[in-house]
Amino acid sequence: MTALVWFRNDLRSLDHAALSAAVAAGPCRAIYFLCQAQLDEHGIAPIRRHYLRRALQALAEQLAELGIPFDIIDAAHFRHVPKMLADYCQQYGIAQVFAHEELLVDEMQRDAACKQALSIPLTLLDDCLIHPSLGTKDDGSAYKVFTPYSRRARQRLREHFPRVLPRPQAQAAATATTRIEAFGEERDSDPWPVTENAVLDQLREFCAQRAVKYSDQRNFPAVDGTSRLSAALALGVISPRQCLARLQLECGEAVWDAKSSAGNWFNELLWREFYRQVAFHFPQVVKGRAFQADTERLRWRNKREHFAAWQAGETGYPIVDAGMRQLAQTGWMHNRLRMVTASFLCKHLHIDWRWGERHFLEQLIDADFASNNGGWQWAASTGTDAVPYFRIFNPTTQSQRFDADGEFIKQFIPELRELSGKALHQPENVAGYPQAIVDHKESRETCLALFQEIRD
Ligand SMILES: Cc1cc2nc3c(=O)[nH]c(=O)nc-3n(C[C@H](O)[C@H](O)[C@H](O)COP(=O)(O)OP(=O)(O)OC[C@H]3O[C@@H](n4cnc5c(N)ncnc54)[C@H](O)[C@@H]3O)c2cc1C
Repeated sequence: MTALVWFRNDLRSLDHAALSAAVAAGPCRAIYFLCQAQLDEHGIAPIRRHYLRRALQALAEQLAELGIPFDIIDAAHFRHVPKMLADYCQQYGIAQVFAHEELLVDEMQRDAACKQALSIPLTLLDDCLIHPSLGTKDDGSAYKVFTPYSRRARQRLREHFPRVLPRPQAQAAATATTRIEAFGEERDSDPWPVTENAVLDQLREFCAQRAVKYSDQRNFPAVDGTSRLSAALALGVISPRQCLARLQLECGEAVWDAKSSAGNWFNELLWREFYRQVAFHFPQVVKGRAFQADTERLRWRNKREHFAAWQAGETGYPIVDAGMRQLAQTGWMHNRLRMVTASFLCKHLHIDWRWGERHFLEQLIDADFASNNGGWQWAASTGTDAVPYFRIFNPTTQSQRFDADGEFIKQFIPELRELSGKALHQPENVAGYPQAIVDHKESRETCLALFQEIRD
């Protein structure tokens, strides 16, 4: 009997429970549904599209080595998947389908529809570091605050260290692969490693050399102090379990100490899990709603010209503009700058966080719905464990603290190359560079008033 493994955002052959189960169940085939029309609807970034195609190509080559036939099918949209999957299973005499569980509400509905459409079992396996149903409080309710969640998650993972599954044995002689053609507008993602081996090398290098310096370096955008594994994690080219296992191998017990540098990096992996469990337990956030319902009453100003200036990196605040230009030019942005630019959009320009959320999804190579939504709602003070509304980043202070010499700013804003000190962080009348589009103090007061309105 033939088994089928259905790949989703888990484009790897190592540590893949669904692939291992399908191979164990008999000769196996593999499938991936490309939902092109849906990708267009969601405005997937051209760089992300290119990275996805490369990841699929790398997976196809890996599966060919294992002798597993792999079909990529354009289903246009999620809603067509159940019927197409049922037809495929009939055509190839499939006896059982294996896939990893996806935890967003639309994906769960799609899977429920697939189960109904199929006359054979669809087995969904856990692909989390810690499944949302396990990372709960003693009374079974979901955590809304990160710190206690992370404490519980760390303790559980220490007691039940997740196993990393090996790549399954080849089931037949290697086969040839065909080239996967572009499916829409693309932008070069070649600087981002995409094969499993290359991404594992990247992980090993980070854990062996840089994890110990992570706490000291992670906030400085001019320093290559973070792992840059987010694109690979978002498409599942690598699993968070592989990350944790490698970190522990290199850094030992320090992993469990949240105050150590290695523990600090592990914490970031837990933020990723935290936002996944938020999306699972509080599905309103997936439907475009604020987690804190009262913040739906905020009267955002939503000035289009301000939004355009923010997108273009033309606000007159160097750290904000450098971050936005990094995003536009490279398809990625440093975490410190994601926080600063998101905060600036919501709290200085008083623009609805959903506008920014959408813009990031349309630009980022590592776009990930749960993490992006979590990050935006955190910055806008509308989410779980969000920054308090009265804590408003001062973009000039952020700039002075995290890019004191302007090394990063100058990389993306050549107009400011000759400046230093106050003139760099608060430029005025610089040829080719805009004046600040809003005044920090006034914007701050307006923001406080907007939040006060809904608290009254
Ligand atoms: C407004 C905003 C939007 C964001 N949008 C996304 C997004 O679409 N996709 C995305 O992967 N991350 C997002 N993040 C989180 C974070 O900025 C990126 O994960 C990080 O910058 C990626 O760089 P890295 O791989 O070098 O991270 P590292 O610092 O090396 O961290 C390791 C991994 O942990 C995870 N991680 C790190 N920080 C966070 C965090 N705050 N929340 C959730 N996961 C985290 C990522 O998977 C990351 O690859 C967003 C943050 C903010 C404030």
